[in-house]
Amino acid sequence: MATVFLNKSHLFYNLDKISSVNPNILVVIKDNAYGHGIFSVSKMLKEYGIKKVCVRNVDEANLVRDFEEILIFNPPANRNAINFSYAINSLTQLKKNRHPYIHLKIDTGFRRNGILEDELDEALEIVLKKEFEIRGVFSHFCCADEVGCDTFIQYDKFLKIKEKIEKFCQNHNLKRPYFHIANSASLFKLPDTLDYVRPGIAIYGGIEGFKPVMSLVADVVSVRELDSKEGCGYNKTFMSDEKIKISTIDIGYADGIPYFKNGCKLKDTVALGKISMDYMIVKGEFKKVVVFDDIKEFVKNFDTITYDILVKISPRIKRRIIESNNGNST
Ligand SMILES: *Cc1c(COP(=O)(O)O)cnc(C)c1O
Repeated sequence: MATVFLNKSHLFYNLDKISSVNPNILVVIKDNAYGHGIFSVSKMLKEYGIKKVCVRNVDEANLVRDFEEILIFNPPANRNAINFSYAINSLTQLKKNRHPYIHLKIDTGFRRNGILEDELDEALEIVLKKEFEIRGVFSHFCCADEVGCDTFIQYDKFLKIKEKIEKFCQNHNLKRPYFHIANSASLFKLPDTLDYVRPGIAIYGGIEGFKPVMSLVADVVSVRELDSKEGCGYNKTFMSDEKIKISTIDIGYADGIPYFKNGCKLKDTVALGKISMDYMIVKGEFKKVVVFDDIKEFVKNFDTITYDILVKISPRIKRRIIESNNGNST
């Protein structure tokens, strides 16, 4: 059976590195912790001392109820648990909302979600009238992984809004909310990362400078010999020009590996021809095959991003936490 191994020492390394920029970390564990497994990842985060997490929706929040605070990016309208915070993605949503603990999302230029600058006064009036508690105020960068000025334009806009909200809270004797804008790609770019940082992919080691948390290991189902000038797999898109041993491993595109038609580079060998639904044929004779142990390398096979592969790795595959690089699984 294929297994996803989660490397705890790599996860802790990534958390240490982020802490060196800002120890107040809101860890993004949306979408099954970027495919790693929300329960296993939450367990390790708690051990590290993480208190606040971000999830996609209320179903995910209910899976990890016992963090101190859970920010729900796309919440419903109804009132909910006291440690749940609802992201406010629009003025319309704010008007319908009945949950008292909120984070105001500000659209500083992404143009996806958030209150607009010229809606802010109205939003703050609603907050007063409905007696909501603004726990946080945040925004999201659209281009932090590029060189360019967008990030700093957004950042400056956010600082202005921050000042305005701080003044508003002072004037109305409200508790000052905490401000957060830094995603993974912006961690080392900003002059000041404000009260909290809000990284996702860096936690899991899906960008440069961070260590990969997930490795995927498959079992060999059968081994055979391929003759010279013999093909293998659907439509025989791979033809061998020599006699070789091949192994079939128990993982395919049904497990979330992107489809490929003509081979793929794995950690220590190559997959041959087309990937099947539940299997891949690889070159060589093995008992186990590491499909990948660094998503940054594996992604080079495909026209996509590390996030996209990680998040689709099937939740049906068993997750095992390992303490370090050299085994000792728990
Ligand atoms: C997904 C997400 C993040 C994390 O982004 P990374 O690029 O993975 O660090 C942060 N904030 C919001 C609002 C998000 O949706």
